[in-house]
Amino acid sequence: MTELCKDLVLLPLGGTGEIGMNLYLYGWGRQEDRRWLMVDCGVMFGDERTPGVEVILPDPAFIEERRGRLDAILVTHAHEDHIGAIPWLAWRLEAPVYATPFAAILIRQKLVEAGWEDEVELKEVTPGEKLTFGEMAVEYIPVTHSLPEPNSLAIFTPAGTVIHTGDFKIDESPVIPPEFSFGRLRELGDAGVEVLVCDSTNAGKEGRSPSETEVRQTLERLISEAPGRVAVTTFSSHVGRIKVISEAARAAGREVVVAGFAMRRVIEAAREVGLLNSGHSFLDEEAFGYLPREKVVLLCTGSQGEARAALSRIADDVHPRIALERGDMVIFSSFTIPGNEKAVGSVMNRLAALGVDVIVNSPELLVHTSGHPRREELGTYYDLVRPKRLVPMHGEMIHMLKHAEFARSRGIEDVLLPQDGRMMRIVPGPLEVVEEVRSGQLHVDGRLVVPGDKGPVRARRKLSFVGIVVISVALDSKGNVRGPAQIITEGLPEKTLEDEYFEDLLLDAADDALDQMSRARRRIDEAVIETLRLAVRRAAAAEWGKKPIVHVIVQRV
Ligand SMILES: [Zn+2]
Ligand SMILES: [Zn+2]
Repeated sequence: MTELCKDLVLLPLGGTGEIGMNLYLYGWGRQEDRRWLMVDCGVMFGDERTPGVEVILPDPAFIEERRGRLDAILVTHAHEDHIGAIPWLAWRLEAPVYATPFAAILIRQKLVEAGWEDEVELKEVTPGEKLTFGEMAVEYIPVTHSLPEPNSLAIFTPAGTVIHTGDFKIDESPVIPPEFSFGRLRELGDAGVEVLVCDSTNAGKEGRSPSETEVRQTLERLISEAPGRVAVTTFSSHVGRIKVISEAARAAGREVVVAGFAMRRVIEAAREVGLLNSGHSFLDEEAFGYLPREKVVLLCTGSQGEARAALSRIADDVHPRIALERGDMVIFSSFTIPGNEKAVGSVMNRLAALGVDVIVNSPELLVHTSGHPRREELGTYYDLVRPKRLVPMHGEMIHMLKHAEFARSRGIEDVLLPQDGRMMRIVPGPLEVVEEVRSGQLHVDGRLVVPGDKGPVRARRKLSFVGIVVISVALDSKGNVRGPAQIITEGLPEKTLEDEYFEDLLLDAADDALDQMSRARRRIDEAVIETLRLAVRRAAAAEWGKKPIVHVIVQRV
Protein backbone atom coordinates (compact mmCIF):
# COMPACT_ATOMS: atom_id res chain seq x y z
CA MET A 1 0.00 0.00 0.00
CA THR A 2 2.69 2.50 1.06
CA GLU A 3 4.69 1.77 -2.10
CA LEU A 4 1.63 2.61 -4.18
CA CYS A 5 1.38 6.11 -2.71
CA LYS A 6 4.91 7.00 -3.71
CA ASP A 7 5.49 8.95 -6.85
CA LEU A 8 8.15 10.98 -8.60
CA VAL A 9 7.45 14.66 -9.09
CA LEU A 10 9.30 17.26 -11.10
CA LEU A 11 9.28 20.86 -9.90
CA PRO A 12 11.16 23.51 -11.91
CA LEU A 13 11.98 26.64 -9.92
CA GLY A 14 13.73 28.16 -12.93
CA GLY A 15 14.60 27.31 -16.51
CA THR A 16 11.18 27.00 -18.09
CA GLY A 17 9.94 29.72 -20.41
CA GLU A 18 13.32 31.40 -20.27
CA ILE A 19 16.86 30.44 -21.12
CA GLY A 20 18.73 30.79 -17.87
CA MET A 21 18.62 30.07 -14.13
CA ASN A 22 18.00 26.37 -14.52
CA LEU A 23 16.86 24.73 -11.30
CA TYR A 24 14.86 21.51 -11.37
CA LEU A 25 13.77 19.50 -8.36
CA TYR A 26 12.95 15.82 -8.49
CA GLY A 27 11.06 14.52 -5.47
CA TRP A 28 10.45 10.87 -4.69
CA GLY A 29 8.20 9.45 -2.00
CA ARG A 30 4.88 10.23 -0.40
CA GLN A 31 3.75 13.80 -0.46
CA GLU A 32 4.39 14.31 3.25
CA ASP A 33 7.97 13.05 3.29
CA ARG A 34 9.42 13.31 -0.18
CA ARG A 35 13.18 13.24 -0.62
CA TRP A 36 14.50 15.78 -3.11
CA LEU A 37 17.33 16.01 -5.62
CA MET A 38 18.16 19.33 -7.25
CA VAL A 39 19.44 19.31 -10.81
CA ASP A 40 21.46 22.45 -11.60
CA CYS A 41 21.42 25.82 -9.87
CA GLY A 42 22.03 28.52 -12.44
CA VAL A 43 21.67 32.24 -13.01
CA MET A 44 20.22 34.51 -15.61
CA PHE A 45 21.66 37.90 -16.51
CA GLY A 46 19.90 41.19 -15.95
CA ASP A 47 19.16 43.74 -18.65
CA GLU A 48 17.61 47.19 -18.98
CA ARG A 49 14.50 45.90 -17.17
CA THR A 50 16.58 45.27 -14.05
CA PRO A 51 18.55 48.48 -13.53
CA GLY A 52 21.57 47.92 -11.31
CA VAL A 53 21.10 44.15 -11.28
CA GLU A 54 23.36 41.98 -13.41
CA VAL A 55 22.70 38.57 -11.89
CA ILE A 56 19.30 36.97 -11.30
CA LEU A 57 18.74 33.82 -9.24
CA PRO A 58 15.80 31.45 -8.97
CA ASP A 59 13.91 31.87 -5.69
CA PRO A 60 14.67 28.67 -3.76
CA ALA A 61 12.13 29.28 -0.94
CA PHE A 62 10.23 26.03 -1.54
CA ILE A 63 13.26 23.79 -1.14
CA GLU A 64 14.95 25.97 1.45
CA GLU A 65 11.98 25.30 3.75
CA ARG A 66 12.53 21.57 3.15
CA ARG A 67 16.31 21.56 3.09
CA GLY A 68 16.55 18.68 5.53
CA ARG A 69 15.04 16.52 2.80
CA LEU A 70 17.28 17.76 -0.03
CA ASP A 71 19.93 15.08 -0.60
CA ALA A 72 22.04 16.62 -3.34
CA ILE A 73 22.57 19.44 -5.81
CA LEU A 74 23.55 17.66 -9.02
CA VAL A 75 25.34 19.70 -11.67
CA THR A 76 24.98 18.57 -15.28
CA HIS A 77 27.67 20.91 -16.68
CA ALA A 78 29.55 24.13 -15.97
CA HIS A 79 27.64 26.81 -17.90
CA GLU A 80 26.56 29.81 -15.84
CA ASP A 81 22.87 29.10 -16.42
CA HIS A 82 23.48 25.78 -14.58
CA ILE A 83 26.07 26.60 -11.88
CA GLY A 84 26.02 30.38 -11.44
CA ALA A 85 23.66 30.44 -8.44
CA ILE A 86 25.63 27.88 -6.41
CA PRO A 87 27.82 30.45 -4.62
CA TRP A 88 24.67 32.41 -3.69
CA LEU A 89 22.32 29.59 -2.74
CA ALA A 90 24.14 26.35 -1.91
CA TRP A 91 25.06 27.34 1.65
CA ARG A 92 21.42 28.16 2.35
CA LEU A 93 20.33 24.75 1.13
CA GLU A 94 22.88 22.77 3.16
CA ALA A 95 23.14 19.99 0.57
CA PRO A 96 26.32 18.67 -1.04
CA VAL A 97 27.05 19.75 -4.62
CA TYR A 98 28.02 16.99 -7.06
CA ALA A 99 29.93 17.93 -10.21
CA THR A 100 32.36 16.40 -12.68
CA PRO A 101 36.03 17.49 -12.35
CA PHE A 102 35.99 20.43 -14.81
CA ALA A 103 32.77 21.85 -13.39
CA ALA A 104 34.07 21.24 -9.85
CA ILE A 105 37.15 23.41 -10.51
CA LEU A 106 35.02 26.31 -11.72
CA ILE A 107 32.50 25.92 -8.89
CA ARG A 108 35.27 25.77 -6.30
CA GLN A 109 36.71 29.04 -7.62
CA LYS A 110 33.30 30.66 -7.34
CA LEU A 111 32.85 29.41 -3.77
CA VAL A 112 36.30 30.67 -2.79
CA GLU A 113 35.56 34.10 -4.26
CA ALA A 114 32.25 34.22 -2.40
CA GLY A 115 33.88 32.99 0.83
CA TRP A 116 31.71 29.88 1.14
CA GLU A 117 34.25 27.18 0.31
CA ASP A 118 34.20 25.78 3.87
CA GLU A 119 30.42 25.83 4.13
CA VAL A 120 29.54 24.02 0.90
CA GLU A 121 30.48 20.39 0.42
CA LEU A 122 31.64 19.86 -3.17
CA LYS A 123 31.91 16.26 -4.35
CA GLU A 124 33.52 15.16 -7.59
CA VAL A 125 31.68 12.73 -9.83
CA THR A 126 33.34 10.71 -12.55
CA PRO A 127 31.39 10.80 -15.81
CA GLY A 128 29.56 7.49 -16.02
CA GLU A 129 29.34 7.18 -12.24
CA LYS A 130 26.16 6.09 -10.47
CA LEU A 131 25.23 7.72 -7.15
CA THR A 132 22.64 6.43 -4.70
CA PHE A 133 20.36 8.63 -2.58
CA GLY A 134 17.95 6.51 -0.53
CA GLU A 135 15.53 4.90 -2.95
CA MET A 136 16.72 7.09 -5.82
CA ALA A 137 19.88 6.71 -7.85
CA VAL A 138 21.43 8.94 -10.46
CA GLU A 139 23.81 8.08 -13.27
CA TYR A 140 25.97 10.65 -15.07
CA ILE A 141 25.90 9.94 -18.80
CA PRO A 142 28.42 11.82 -20.98
CA VAL A 143 26.96 13.67 -23.97
CA THR A 144 28.26 16.40 -26.28
CA HIS A 145 27.63 20.14 -25.89
CA SER A 146 29.74 23.30 -26.08
CA LEU A 147 32.06 22.85 -23.10
CA PRO A 148 33.86 19.98 -21.35
CA GLU A 149 32.01 17.23 -19.48
CA PRO A 150 28.34 17.78 -20.33
CA ASN A 151 26.05 15.11 -18.90
CA SER A 152 22.59 13.73 -19.16
CA LEU A 153 21.31 12.28 -15.88
CA ALA A 154 19.39 9.03 -15.58
CA ILE A 155 17.26 9.18 -12.45
CA PHE A 156 16.24 5.74 -11.18
CA THR A 157 13.32 5.22 -8.83
CA PRO A 158 11.51 2.03 -7.75
CA ALA A 159 8.67 3.11 -10.06
CA GLY A 160 10.76 3.72 -13.17
CA THR A 161 13.52 5.69 -14.83
CA VAL A 162 13.56 9.30 -15.97
CA ILE A 163 16.22 10.86 -18.17
CA HIS A 164 17.07 14.53 -17.76
CA THR A 165 19.05 15.40 -20.88
CA GLY A 166 20.83 18.51 -19.59
CA ASP A 167 22.10 20.69 -22.43
CA PHE A 168 23.30 18.56 -25.32
CA LYS A 169 23.79 18.23 -29.02
CA ILE A 170 24.70 15.08 -30.87
CA ASP A 171 28.15 15.72 -32.29
CA GLU A 172 29.50 12.61 -33.95
CA SER A 173 32.93 14.16 -34.40
CA PRO A 174 33.57 16.30 -31.31
CA VAL A 175 36.94 18.03 -30.99
CA ILE A 176 37.35 17.20 -27.31
CA PRO A 177 36.29 14.07 -25.43
CA PRO A 178 33.91 12.56 -24.48
CA GLU A 179 32.00 10.89 -27.26
CA PHE A 180 28.21 11.00 -27.09
CA SER A 181 26.98 7.92 -25.10
CA PHE A 182 24.87 6.27 -27.79
CA GLY A 183 25.38 2.79 -26.32
CA ARG A 184 24.49 3.59 -22.73
CA LEU A 185 21.39 5.57 -23.69
CA ARG A 186 20.20 2.71 -25.92
CA GLU A 187 20.67 0.26 -23.02
CA LEU A 188 18.58 2.48 -20.79
CA GLY A 189 15.96 2.66 -23.54
CA ASP A 190 15.96 -1.14 -23.76
CA ALA A 191 15.39 -1.35 -19.99
CA GLY A 192 12.53 1.18 -20.26
CA VAL A 193 12.40 4.92 -19.79
CA GLU A 194 9.25 6.49 -18.38
CA VAL A 195 9.94 10.17 -19.03
CA LEU A 196 12.41 12.25 -21.02
CA VAL A 197 12.96 15.77 -19.69
CA CYS A 198 14.61 17.35 -22.68
CA ASP A 199 16.51 20.44 -23.95
CA SER A 200 14.25 22.61 -26.16
CA THR A 201 16.62 25.44 -27.17
CA ASN A 202 16.75 24.59 -30.88
CA ALA A 203 13.56 22.53 -31.15
CA GLY A 204 12.22 24.93 -33.75
CA LYS A 205 15.10 24.21 -36.13
CA GLU A 206 15.07 21.45 -38.70
CA GLY A 207 18.07 19.23 -39.40
CA ARG A 208 21.17 18.80 -37.27
CA SER A 209 23.58 21.29 -35.72
CA PRO A 210 26.87 21.20 -37.63
CA SER A 211 29.74 19.43 -35.89
CA GLU A 212 32.61 21.24 -34.20
CA THR A 213 34.82 19.59 -36.83
CA GLU A 214 33.14 21.65 -39.56
CA VAL A 215 33.82 24.84 -37.60
CA ARG A 216 37.42 23.74 -37.20
CA GLN A 217 37.85 23.55 -40.97
CA THR A 218 36.59 27.11 -41.53
CA LEU A 219 38.70 28.54 -38.72
CA GLU A 220 41.82 26.76 -40.00
CA ARG A 221 41.31 28.22 -43.47
CA LEU A 222 40.58 31.77 -42.27
CA ILE A 223 43.57 31.81 -39.94
CA SER A 224 46.00 30.35 -42.48
CA GLU A 225 44.93 32.75 -45.25
CA ALA A 226 44.76 35.95 -43.17
CA PRO A 227 47.38 38.56 -44.12
CA GLY A 228 47.31 40.52 -40.82
CA ARG A 229 46.41 39.91 -37.23
CA VAL A 230 43.53 37.57 -36.45
CA ALA A 231 41.42 38.00 -33.33
CA VAL A 232 38.85 35.37 -32.42
CA THR A 233 36.20 35.92 -29.80
CA THR A 234 34.16 33.07 -28.38
CA PHE A 235 32.43 31.95 -25.18
CA SER A 236 35.09 31.66 -22.49
CA SER A 237 33.98 28.17 -21.42
CA HIS A 238 34.16 26.74 -24.95
CA VAL A 239 37.31 24.66 -24.46
CA GLY A 240 36.79 22.71 -27.70
CA ARG A 241 36.78 25.95 -29.69
CA ILE A 242 39.80 27.27 -27.79
CA LYS A 243 41.65 24.06 -28.61
CA VAL A 244 40.76 24.28 -32.31
CA ILE A 245 41.88 27.92 -32.50
CA SER A 246 45.14 27.05 -30.77
CA GLU A 247 45.79 24.20 -33.23
CA ALA A 248 44.87 26.33 -36.24
CA ALA A 249 47.23 29.05 -35.04
CA ARG A 250 50.06 26.59 -34.58
CA ALA A 251 49.49 25.13 -38.05
CA ALA A 252 49.68 28.65 -39.49
CA GLY A 253 52.89 29.44 -37.60
CA ARG A 254 51.16 31.87 -35.25
CA GLU A 255 51.24 32.34 -31.48
CA VAL A 256 48.06 32.58 -29.41
CA VAL A 257 47.67 35.56 -27.10
CA VAL A 258 44.82 35.43 -24.58
CA ALA A 259 42.96 38.54 -23.40
CA GLY A 260 40.25 38.16 -20.79
CA PHE A 261 40.28 36.86 -17.24
CA ALA A 262 37.40 34.40 -17.63
CA MET A 263 39.03 32.70 -20.61
CA ARG A 264 42.36 32.40 -18.84
CA ARG A 265 40.62 30.76 -15.91
CA VAL A 266 38.88 28.22 -18.14
CA ILE A 267 42.17 27.42 -19.90
CA GLU A 268 43.73 26.67 -16.50
CA ALA A 269 40.79 24.42 -15.59
CA ALA A 270 41.02 22.64 -18.94
CA ARG A 271 44.74 22.01 -18.37
CA GLU A 272 44.01 20.60 -14.91
CA VAL A 273 41.61 18.01 -16.30
CA GLY A 274 43.98 17.17 -19.16
CA LEU A 275 42.01 18.67 -22.05
CA LEU A 276 44.78 21.06 -23.09
CA ASN A 277 48.34 19.74 -22.95
CA SER A 278 51.67 21.53 -22.95
CA GLY A 279 51.57 21.64 -26.78
CA HIS A 280 49.02 24.40 -26.40
CA SER A 281 50.78 27.53 -25.30
CA PHE A 282 48.87 30.68 -24.51
CA LEU A 283 50.75 33.93 -24.16
CA ASP A 284 49.84 36.91 -22.01
CA GLU A 285 48.58 40.19 -23.42
CA GLU A 286 52.08 41.68 -23.13
CA ALA A 287 53.23 39.42 -25.98
CA PHE A 288 50.85 41.10 -28.38
CA GLY A 289 53.09 44.17 -28.66
CA TYR A 290 56.21 42.36 -29.85
CA LEU A 291 54.72 39.70 -32.17
CA PRO A 292 54.73 40.51 -35.90
CA ARG A 293 51.24 41.03 -37.34
CA GLU A 294 51.23 37.81 -39.32
CA LYS A 295 52.39 35.77 -36.33
CA VAL A 296 49.55 36.39 -33.91
CA VAL A 297 46.11 35.02 -33.12
CA LEU A 298 44.35 36.88 -30.35
CA LEU A 299 41.83 34.88 -28.38
CA CYS A 300 39.54 37.19 -26.47
CA THR A 301 36.35 37.56 -24.47
CA GLY A 302 33.60 39.97 -25.40
CA SER A 303 31.59 38.05 -28.00
CA GLN A 304 28.38 39.40 -26.41
CA GLY A 305 29.46 43.03 -26.67
CA GLU A 306 30.20 43.26 -22.93
CA ALA A 307 31.49 46.79 -22.31
CA ARG A 308 34.22 45.74 -19.92
CA ALA A 309 35.52 42.83 -21.99
CA ALA A 310 38.72 42.97 -24.00
CA LEU A 311 37.07 43.17 -27.41
CA SER A 312 34.95 46.22 -26.62
CA ARG A 313 38.02 48.08 -25.37
CA ILE A 314 39.94 47.05 -28.48
CA ALA A 315 37.07 48.32 -30.63
CA ASP A 316 37.28 51.66 -28.80
CA ASP A 317 41.05 51.63 -29.27
CA VAL A 318 41.54 52.11 -25.53
CA HIS A 319 43.02 48.71 -24.64
CA PRO A 320 46.35 49.28 -22.87
CA ARG A 321 48.23 46.53 -24.71
CA ILE A 322 46.23 45.50 -27.76
CA ALA A 323 45.34 47.44 -30.89
CA LEU A 324 43.93 46.33 -34.23
CA GLU A 325 44.09 48.24 -37.48
CA ARG A 326 43.16 48.15 -41.17
CA GLY A 327 43.87 44.73 -42.66
CA ASP A 328 43.36 42.83 -39.38
CA MET A 329 40.47 40.44 -38.88
CA VAL A 330 38.07 39.73 -36.01
CA ILE A 331 36.12 36.46 -36.09
CA PHE A 332 32.98 36.22 -33.95
CA SER A 333 33.12 32.48 -33.26
CA SER A 334 29.90 32.74 -31.32
CA PHE A 335 26.25 33.59 -31.67
CA THR A 336 24.55 36.61 -30.17
CA ILE A 337 22.43 35.73 -27.16
CA PRO A 338 18.99 37.31 -27.58
CA GLY A 339 18.99 40.71 -25.91
CA ASN A 340 22.65 41.42 -26.70
CA GLU A 341 22.16 42.38 -30.36
CA LYS A 342 22.61 46.12 -29.84
CA ALA A 343 25.79 45.77 -27.82
CA VAL A 344 27.30 43.26 -30.26
CA GLY A 345 26.30 45.37 -33.27
CA SER A 346 27.96 48.39 -31.69
CA VAL A 347 31.26 46.52 -31.14
CA MET A 348 31.17 45.25 -34.73
CA ASN A 349 30.58 48.75 -36.09
CA ARG A 350 33.38 50.23 -34.04
CA LEU A 351 35.75 47.51 -35.28
CA ALA A 352 34.65 48.14 -38.86
CA ALA A 353 35.34 51.85 -38.37
CA LEU A 354 38.94 50.93 -37.50
CA GLY A 355 39.16 49.20 -40.90
CA VAL A 356 39.08 45.72 -39.33
CA ASP A 357 37.48 42.90 -41.31
CA VAL A 358 34.62 41.51 -39.17
CA ILE A 359 33.63 37.87 -39.76
CA VAL A 360 30.32 36.53 -38.38
CA ASN A 361 28.85 33.08 -38.56
CA SER A 362 26.77 32.10 -41.58
CA PRO A 363 25.93 28.82 -43.33
CA GLU A 364 28.54 29.72 -45.99
CA LEU A 365 31.18 30.61 -43.42
CA LEU A 366 30.71 28.36 -40.45
CA VAL A 367 32.67 29.89 -37.57
CA HIS A 368 30.28 28.77 -34.85
CA THR A 369 27.85 25.96 -34.16
CA SER A 370 25.25 25.67 -31.43
CA GLY A 371 25.61 23.27 -28.53
CA HIS A 372 21.91 22.43 -28.55
CA PRO A 373 19.94 19.82 -30.50
CA ARG A 374 17.93 20.56 -33.60
CA ARG A 375 15.02 18.29 -34.55
CA GLU A 376 17.01 15.46 -36.08
CA GLU A 377 19.15 15.23 -32.96
CA LEU A 378 16.08 15.30 -30.72
CA GLY A 379 14.66 12.50 -32.85
CA THR A 380 17.85 10.48 -32.45
CA TYR A 381 17.74 10.95 -28.68
CA TYR A 382 14.08 9.85 -28.57
CA ASP A 383 14.93 6.77 -30.66
CA LEU A 384 17.70 5.81 -28.27
CA VAL A 385 15.73 6.04 -25.04
CA ARG A 386 12.15 5.59 -26.37
CA PRO A 387 10.41 7.52 -23.57
CA LYS A 388 6.74 7.00 -22.77
CA ARG A 389 6.28 10.65 -21.88
CA LEU A 390 8.13 13.90 -22.50
CA VAL A 391 8.63 17.18 -20.65
CA PRO A 392 10.27 19.94 -22.72
CA MET A 393 12.64 22.20 -20.74
CA HIS A 394 15.47 24.73 -21.24
CA GLY A 395 13.89 27.15 -23.65
CA GLU A 396 11.69 30.15 -24.06
CA MET A 397 7.97 29.43 -24.30
CA ILE A 398 8.14 29.36 -28.08
CA HIS A 399 10.95 26.76 -28.06
CA MET A 400 9.11 24.55 -25.56
CA LEU A 401 5.90 24.74 -27.59
CA LYS A 402 7.78 23.79 -30.75
CA HIS A 403 9.38 20.94 -28.86
CA ALA A 404 6.01 19.66 -27.61
CA GLU A 405 4.64 19.78 -31.14
CA PHE A 406 7.67 17.94 -32.50
CA ALA A 407 7.53 15.23 -29.80
CA ARG A 408 3.87 14.59 -30.60
CA SER A 409 4.69 14.38 -34.30
CA ARG A 410 7.17 11.67 -33.34
CA GLY A 411 4.50 9.62 -31.61
CA ILE A 412 5.03 10.71 -27.99
CA GLU A 413 1.45 11.49 -26.99
CA ASP A 414 1.86 12.46 -23.37
CA VAL A 415 3.72 15.78 -23.35
CA LEU A 416 3.25 18.45 -20.71
CA LEU A 417 4.78 21.93 -20.71
CA PRO A 418 6.41 22.68 -17.38
CA GLN A 419 6.22 26.00 -15.64
CA ASP A 420 8.32 27.43 -12.84
CA GLY A 421 6.59 26.72 -9.55
CA ARG A 422 4.30 24.06 -10.95
CA MET A 423 4.86 20.58 -9.52
CA MET A 424 4.12 17.74 -11.94
CA ARG A 425 3.75 14.07 -11.17
CA ILE A 426 5.82 12.34 -13.85
CA VAL A 427 6.04 8.74 -12.57
CA PRO A 428 3.70 6.94 -12.63
CA GLY A 429 1.95 8.55 -15.59
CA PRO A 430 0.10 10.27 -17.02
CA LEU A 431 1.89 13.62 -16.61
CA GLU A 432 -0.20 15.77 -14.32
CA VAL A 433 0.14 19.04 -12.42
CA VAL A 434 -0.34 18.27 -8.73
CA GLU A 435 0.56 21.47 -6.90
CA GLU A 436 1.53 25.12 -7.35
CA VAL A 437 4.31 26.42 -5.12
CA ARG A 438 6.14 29.68 -4.63
CA SER A 439 8.68 30.46 -7.33
CA GLY A 440 10.18 33.60 -8.80
CA GLN A 441 13.41 35.51 -8.97
CA LEU A 442 15.95 36.91 -6.57
CA HIS A 443 18.25 39.72 -7.60
CA VAL A 444 21.90 40.04 -6.75
CA ASP A 445 22.07 43.72 -5.90
CA GLY A 446 25.62 44.74 -5.11
CA ARG A 447 26.66 42.32 -2.35
CA LEU A 448 23.10 41.55 -1.29
CA VAL A 449 20.45 39.12 -2.49
CA VAL A 450 17.08 40.88 -2.58
CA PRO A 451 13.59 40.00 -3.82
CA GLY A 452 13.20 40.19 -7.58
CA ASP A 453 10.19 41.94 -9.00
CA LYS A 454 9.01 43.21 -5.61
CA GLY A 455 12.50 44.39 -4.66
CA PRO A 456 14.39 47.61 -5.30
CA VAL A 457 14.36 47.33 -9.11
CA ARG A 458 10.68 48.15 -9.09
CA ALA A 459 11.32 51.63 -7.75
CA ARG A 460 14.45 52.01 -9.91
CA ARG A 461 12.50 51.26 -13.06
CA LYS A 462 9.94 53.86 -12.08
CA LEU A 463 12.61 56.39 -11.11
CA SER A 464 14.27 55.98 -14.47
CA PHE A 465 10.97 56.95 -16.08
CA VAL A 466 9.65 59.80 -13.91
CA GLY A 467 12.22 61.00 -11.37
CA ILE A 468 11.56 61.88 -7.74
CA VAL A 469 10.41 64.90 -5.66
CA VAL A 470 10.95 65.30 -1.92
CA ILE A 471 8.98 68.04 -0.12
CA SER A 472 9.60 68.96 3.48
CA VAL A 473 7.14 71.10 5.51
CA ALA A 474 7.41 72.42 9.05
CA LEU A 475 4.24 72.57 11.21
CA ASP A 476 3.65 72.91 14.88
CA SER A 477 1.51 70.61 16.97
CA LYS A 478 -1.52 72.91 16.55
CA GLY A 479 -1.34 72.72 12.76
CA ASN A 480 0.22 76.13 12.13
CA VAL A 481 2.66 76.38 9.23
CA ARG A 482 6.14 77.27 10.52
CA GLY A 483 8.37 78.45 7.72
CA PRO A 484 8.47 77.82 3.97
CA ALA A 485 8.39 74.33 2.44
CA GLN A 486 11.64 72.85 1.06
CA ILE A 487 12.01 70.85 -2.12
CA ILE A 488 14.52 68.49 -3.73
CA THR A 489 13.97 67.02 -7.20
CA GLU A 490 15.97 64.43 -9.16
CA GLY A 491 15.36 63.48 -12.75
CA LEU A 492 12.73 66.13 -13.54
CA PRO A 493 12.95 68.70 -16.35
CA GLU A 494 14.34 72.01 -15.10
CA LYS A 495 11.65 74.30 -16.57
CA THR A 496 8.09 74.18 -17.85
CA LEU A 497 6.97 75.23 -21.33
CA GLU A 498 6.32 78.73 -19.89
CA ASP A 499 9.91 78.90 -18.69
CA GLU A 500 8.92 78.52 -15.05
CA TYR A 501 11.18 76.48 -12.77
CA PHE A 502 9.55 73.17 -11.97
CA GLU A 503 10.72 73.33 -8.38
CA ASP A 504 8.94 76.69 -7.89
CA LEU A 505 5.78 75.41 -9.51
CA LEU A 506 5.71 72.32 -7.28
CA LEU A 507 6.51 74.31 -4.14
CA ASP A 508 3.59 76.66 -4.92
CA ALA A 509 1.31 73.69 -5.39
CA ALA A 510 2.40 72.29 -2.03
CA ASP A 511 1.93 75.64 -0.25
CA ASP A 512 -1.53 76.14 -1.77
CA ALA A 513 -2.61 72.65 -0.79
CA LEU A 514 -1.39 73.23 2.75
CA ASP A 515 -3.26 76.57 2.94
CA GLN A 516 -6.49 74.95 1.87
CA MET A 517 -6.33 72.32 4.60
CA SER A 518 -8.14 73.12 7.86
CA ARG A 519 -5.88 73.59 10.85
CA ALA A 520 -7.42 70.51 12.42
CA ARG A 521 -6.47 68.37 9.39
CA ARG A 522 -2.97 69.82 9.40
CA ARG A 523 -2.49 68.30 12.87
CA ILE A 524 -2.61 64.82 11.32
CA ASP A 525 0.69 63.84 9.66
CA GLU A 526 -0.87 61.26 7.31
CA ALA A 527 -3.41 63.80 6.05
CA VAL A 528 -0.69 66.36 5.30
CA ILE A 529 1.46 63.79 3.53
CA GLU A 530 -1.33 62.47 1.33
CA THR A 531 -2.79 65.90 0.45
CA LEU A 532 0.58 67.35 -0.54
CA ARG A 533 1.62 64.25 -2.43
CA LEU A 534 -1.51 64.33 -4.57
CA ALA A 535 -1.28 68.10 -5.14
CA VAL A 536 2.34 67.94 -6.27
CA ARG A 537 1.70 64.98 -8.57
CA ARG A 538 -1.30 66.77 -10.10
CA ALA A 539 0.66 70.00 -10.62
CA ALA A 540 3.53 68.10 -12.28
CA ALA A 541 1.13 66.16 -14.50
CA ALA A 542 -0.63 69.33 -15.67
CA GLU A 543 2.61 70.86 -16.97
CA TRP A 544 4.67 67.83 -17.80
CA GLY A 545 2.18 65.07 -18.63
CA LYS A 546 3.96 62.74 -16.17
CA LYS A 547 3.62 62.10 -12.45
CA PRO A 548 6.88 61.90 -10.47
CA ILE A 549 7.41 59.83 -7.35
CA VAL A 550 6.67 62.25 -4.48
CA HIS A 551 7.72 61.94 -0.86
CA VAL A 552 6.54 64.40 1.80
CA ILE A 553 8.35 64.87 5.10
CA VAL A 554 6.38 66.54 7.92
CA GLN A 555 8.48 68.11 10.65
CA ARG A 556 6.68 69.07 13.88
CA VAL A 557 8.44 72.00 15.45
ZN1 LIG B 1 21.93 25.88 -20.50
ZN1 LIG C 1 24.98 24.61 -21.51
